[in-house]
Amino acid sequence: QALARAREYGRKTLALARRAPDAYRQIVTQGNVAEVLVLAGEQARAEAMLAESIARAAAAGFRAVELRNRHSLAELRMARGLHEEALQMLHAVLDDLQRGGDQETTRMRVHSALYRTYKALGRFEPALAHCEAYYAIEMQRAAMQTQAQARLMVNRLDMEQALQMADQALMDAARQRVKARQLEAEKRELEARSRALHRDAHEDALTGLHNRRRVDLELPRLLDEARQHGRPLQLAVLDVDRFKQVNDRHGHAVGDEVLRQVARILRERLRAKDLAARMGGEEFLAVLVDTPDDTGRDICERLREAVQSHDWAQVSPGLQVTMSVGVARAAEGDDAATLLQRADAALYRAKREGRNRVCVD
Ligand code: GH3
Ligand code: MG
Ligand code: MG
Repeated sequence: QALARAREYGRKTLALARRAPDAYRQIVTQGNVAEVLVLAGEQARAEAMLAESIARAAAAGFRAVELRNRHSLAELRMARGLHEEALQMLHAVLDDLQRGGDQETTRMRVHSALYRTYKALGRFEPALAHCEAYYAIEMQRAAMQTQAQARLMVNRLDMEQALQMADQALMDAARQRVKARQLEAEKRELEARSRALHRDAHEDALTGLHNRRRVDLELPRLLDEARQHGRPLQLAVLDVDRFKQVNDRHGHAVGDEVLRQVARILRERLRAKDLAARMGGEEFLAVLVDTPDDTGRDICERLREAVQSHDWAQVSPGLQVTMSVGVARAAEGDDAATLLQRADAALYRAKREGRNRVCVD
């Protein structure tokens, strides 16, 4: 069945090969079909086809095909009992093989054929020699194959190692990214905390105005600036009148609300470049930059008036709030402390003179 199939394939292949543009396919196919014919016992047809293939291969210079087919032809002779003729042909092929080309398979086939032929002829010495030649090639082949396999193994190990390293690198990179993100988040948190701390350090929690610490930092700077540019600066200390009574009569919560609303009045009526702060308790401070003498008093008078006329009843029924203000103008040689003392002195005078008024130092 296999032979029948092989012949069918051979026939079809031959028909296809004849249509191929190059002779090589035809010649190779002829050789292959001839081998099928040999196995099928059609010696005569096989010989004719091989002979044609050999002649055409030789003419076209397809040496490997030619030698291979010459070997097949010799096998045919051997099968017909023509051992001497087969020997001659095989040795001729071997000689030609040795002259060039690296057709190992054909060489092995020829040695095998020679071995069998000599053995059939009872000439064991040359038979043995060709047997050994055959196995020598086979051993060499096996050795090369093993080497190639070993190389492949090494390559595969290398590759696996490389893949592992690549995986490792990817994992490291991922870990690094996670870590970088964590660090970034930590940094942001620290920055936010530092901003909050800074704010707490310089901001009054109840009113949102600047606190005393901020004044301690800023007042000397503002004084320096005013002096450098020859601009007038005035300092106002503002103190809620009888605040203790507000607390006593309306409760501490109302007291707090009064402080918040006084702070709002100051914030809304002072310019952005002025500094408004709560110094503690019910005492506020305003640094009026770029402000000539009379203007300072006017600003403070308006602040005092705004507090007095504020709708305090909406905070607590019957509530009335006023404040006293002491103003001092920065004079030559004044530092923050002396300026504050002078403003305080003016405030004290305002209190003594009946409260709800502005006194200028
Ligand atoms: P004067 O007109 O002389 O300034 O009298 P005063 O009552 O305003 O002054 P005094 O210094 O005697 O009282 C201030 C009061 O302010 C005493 C204290 O309980 C109160 N106080 C201080 N800080 C706060 C606060 O944050 N909230 C509230 N509600 N009250 C405060
Ligand atoms: Mg007071
Ligand atoms: Mg006070």
